[in-house]
Amino acid sequence: MYRRHPDTSFSHEVRKQLQTHGLSPPNVESHALQAQRCLKQLESKKTPIEKYIYLSNLRNTNVHLFYRLVMNNLTDLTPLIYTPVVGEACLKWSEIYHHPEGLYLSYNDRGSLAKILQNWPQSKVEITVVTDGSRILGLGDLGINGMGIPVGKLSLYTGCAGIRPEATLPLTIDLGTNNEALLNDPFYMGSRMKRVSVEEESKFMDELMVALNKTWPGIVVQFEDFKNPWSSLEKYQPKYCCFNDDIQGTGAVILGGIINALKVTGVPVKDQRAVFMGAGSAGTGVAQQIVQFFRKEGLTEDEARRCFWFVDTKGLITNDRGDNLAEHKKYFSREDNEGKQFKTLAEVVEYVKPTILMGMSTIRGIFDENILKQMSKMNERPVIFPLSNPSSQSECTFEEAINFTDGRAVFASGSPFQNYIYKGKEYIPSQGNNMYVFPGIGLGSILCKSIHVTDEMIYEAAIALNKAINQDELDKGMLYPDITRIRDVSVTVARQVIRQSQKQKLDREKSIRGMSDAQLDAWIKERMYDPTSTKIHDAQGSASKL
Ligand code: NAP
Ligand code: MN
Repeated sequence: MYRRHPDTSFSHEVRKQLQTHGLSPPNVESHALQAQRCLKQLESKKTPIEKYIYLSNLRNTNVHLFYRLVMNNLTDLTPLIYTPVVGEACLKWSEIYHHPEGLYLSYNDRGSLAKILQNWPQSKVEITVVTDGSRILGLGDLGINGMGIPVGKLSLYTGCAGIRPEATLPLTIDLGTNNEALLNDPFYMGSRMKRVSVEEESKFMDELMVALNKTWPGIVVQFEDFKNPWSSLEKYQPKYCCFNDDIQGTGAVILGGIINALKVTGVPVKDQRAVFMGAGSAGTGVAQQIVQFFRKEGLTEDEARRCFWFVDTKGLITNDRGDNLAEHKKYFSREDNEGKQFKTLAEVVEYVKPTILMGMSTIRGIFDENILKQMSKMNERPVIFPLSNPSSQSECTFEEAINFTDGRAVFASGSPFQNYIYKGKEYIPSQGNNMYVFPGIGLGSILCKSIHVTDEMIYEAAIALNKAINQDELDKGMLYPDITRIRDVSVTVARQVIRQSQKQKLDREKSIRGMSDAQLDAWIKERMYDPTSTKIHDAQGSASKL
């Protein structure tokens, strides 16, 4: 999969040592010059998907240059390698296919999963992101075309937290698809069959988890974009080192930002009323994390739980709605609605008079002018978080949120928006991007060799993120640190994740137990992959294999 690709920045000595002399043009180039060329080539690509393809080719041919470019141009490049453009890439995966990019395991491979894992060319995998493609972003069942997601996420693990590229495994399990268009598309590269049943998937996952841990003991497994994520999380969290980013990562990143948002509003926790549009893995995951925070702020669990009202396709979730509520919705289901049923978001907003409006529904524009104006009438500083991805699904844009609340919205979105000038003042949008936490959670768990990733470790990641913001950023109205500081943020998150693992006696890396925060930070930084370091040439395998 990886090609020998001599880097034009290698010195003549390195070229001699690697026996690659003559295999690249003679000039020894600076990293800056290489980056300049790449950025020019990137600029010449007209559409986002062409830029995505360019960057994937770069990662496949010169991994260190790719990561140097990503790390130095995070703001511009993350939307191209991850959301929103990865959504388009997944939609078109079978058309734009050049490289496998990761490992594919099919239902028909069951019984041999451990053997197939041996085919992966890297021997020391420390982390995998796995999807079954059944619910990619807000785009539905994309089958194996979902591979873009593990690939993109792992690029961020490397770019944002310095996990070595060769220690990452993008993994897509091919359990069929219910997407008729894909089944009828001759280019579709997955198995041409309907999705297997929940029970069949569950058995397959059991074998996969055993196989992964047999091949790479203690591997961190991150589940991503599964339609039914709860059962595997419940089953495997107590057994293996794993977490689900859609539920737990999202919960942590939004908690990290909401704590700052609540400080801006000045409304005490006990008076918070949150309406959540969308009660899926993200919505309920976020609310669960905020419940933990409200409890630490002095509310009882019941008081905290009752600060939330959830709306799904059938309207406000209540006990007397007359449907069989999914398990994850029951906890937040209301019983105090006095027999009234509320079908639309507008009705719910009118009834609840929320201080917080969260969107994880994938419905573009559902936070319309009327709802935003109502929020701004009821609150001095309404908290508006349209979190659906990609941008095309966002419940409202930044511009709409600012215009219809007369600039008073405390805002964070899932996808990126541009700064916006309203009545002569520049407003900066915050992006509650999971990349603020999952890379640090992965890094911390790997480095301390944690036996599990516990809920408490996830909660500590949120608090670490919250504390990582500086005064300058807060003064600008930002709820999250500047994305260019992401590697520092990841170190802080990783440190707190390690601390919590140590507290719960789940850490197997004994040597770092007594370290001060400063010592631990230095120890973490030393172990992060740095594609600008000259040492990368020496790293066994990396120069020749990648
Ligand atoms: P999900 O599990 O599919 O949940 C979607 C929820 O929205 C479901 O509860 C669904 O209702 C509801 N919904 C869908 N269409 C609706 C409609 N027309 N009217 C009312 N409710 C509707 O998806 P998810 O994983 O929670 O993700 C949701 C969105 O959040 C995605 O766009 C995702 O990209 C985004 N997200 C953002 C972040 C972030 O910003 N950091 C992180 C993760 C996810 P039913 O339950 O009745 O089907
Ligand atoms: Mn996801």
